[in-house]
Amino acid sequence: METIRAAVSHGVGEPLVIEQIQLSPPGDNQLRIQIEAVAICHSDITFIDGGWDCPFPAVFGHEAVGRVTVAGPGTKTPVGTRVLVTLIRSCGTCPTCSSGDRVHCEDPRDHMNGVIQTMEGQPIFHAMNCAAFAEAVVVHESQTAPIPESISVAGAATMACGGITGIGSAVNTAKVRPGETVVVIGAGGVGLNAIQGAYIAGAARIVAVDMVESKLDDAQAFGATDGILASGPSPWRRLRRIAPRGADVVLVTVGAPVAYDTAPKYLGVGGRIAVVGMPHQDATATYSPMNFGYAGHQMLGSLMGDTVLSRDIPWMVDLHGQGRLKVEEMVSKTWSLEQINEAIADTRTGAARRNVILL
Ligand SMILES: [Zn+2]
Ligand SMILES: [Zn+2]
Repeated sequence: METIRAAVSHGVGEPLVIEQIQLSPPGDNQLRIQIEAVAICHSDITFIDGGWDCPFPAVFGHEAVGRVTVAGPGTKTPVGTRVLVTLIRSCGTCPTCSSGDRVHCEDPRDHMNGVIQTMEGQPIFHAMNCAAFAEAVVVHESQTAPIPESISVAGAATMACGGITGIGSAVNTAKVRPGETVVVIGAGGVGLNAIQGAYIAGAARIVAVDMVESKLDDAQAFGATDGILASGPSPWRRLRRIAPRGADVVLVTVGAPVAYDTAPKYLGVGGRIAVVGMPHQDATATYSPMNFGYAGHQMLGSLMGDTVLSRDIPWMVDLHGQGRLKVEEMVSKTWSLEQINEAIADTRTGAARRNVILL
């Protein structure tokens, strides 16, 4: 056990407290990583606000970059490697992993008797397999991917959740084809990456939908061809002026239930919706099931963009190097660990692309 500093949550809605906790050395197939940057994701805030049940105390944070300092038995990543740290943990051998689906690994894990505990030896909830609001983490090697120095530390952190979730929702989940019309609801950190994903996949029209005018301007800088302000009446009707057949794909990148109520209204015949944003656990949506049968609509779940890290990170890094993928542009502002509550408050406003804590 070693002592590190972490931002610990002690209860729903309470501010995080920077304090010392204990971190175990890496076991089989685990790496110890010194965290250099961790971004704040709306999923962290959903847990902090009680939108998803979890025990406390807890350490959140799952969108990070750092350097391997200790490699546990059975790992292949050399000490010193700069890596992304994400929540996607895959054993590689369960039926789900074996089928190529790495985000839904069924290997059981114990988040309360994991690698972190209080200085008194009491359990701390190891949130999302990461607990990266901390100076260091111990994670399964499958949760990491090498990331070159050519990507800034803050930018690289944003790839670990917002980047892969958005890009992957278009490329992996919805499998956008050249010429398709793609509607992206929400032009925040995940939405802008979904727009980039649709652009990379060759969508003919990429229509951003948001409640805030300035975010529609942002969306165009990331590849959107059109914008629809959702604050007006029946915004889906305006899509028919841009794409008379309606959308082939709607990527819902926000957690607000109303976005799920309205998503099917944008669809054309045979269209598909990807559920990308993560609503609170008690949220429900309402839509006409008849249309799904009659018009051949589909609804697809998209967890972490159905990313396979070893397959997807290398091409994303390559596109970034060619100037074809925006990464650094995702960072709104950087903060110190001591400022984490301010950074969370700023993220809650919805104005930020990504706030990143630098350690
Ligand atoms: Zn996230
Ligand atoms: Zn598995």
